Amino acid sequence: MPRYDYRCRACGATFEVSRPMREAAAPAACPQGHDDTVKLLSTVAVTGRGGSAPAPSGGGGGCCGGGCGC
Ligand SMILES: [Zn+2]
Repeated sequence: MPRYDYRCRACGATFEVSRPMREAAAPAACPQGHDDTVKLLSTVAVTGRGGSAPAPSGGGGGCCGGGCGC
């Protein structure tokens, strides 16, 4: 279930709401109860940079990659 960021225009708080995509446009009340909120542009699944690559760097199959000193 995607999460959406909202910002409250009454108190300025930002908060996340997990809801189905078809309810993304529905109004969401802020944690303090205000309902004057706006949905922020989500950056989830848009940015592909800075992620942690699972593949290790170096150590390409040999023992003498410089780490063990053999
Ligand atoms: Zn608020």
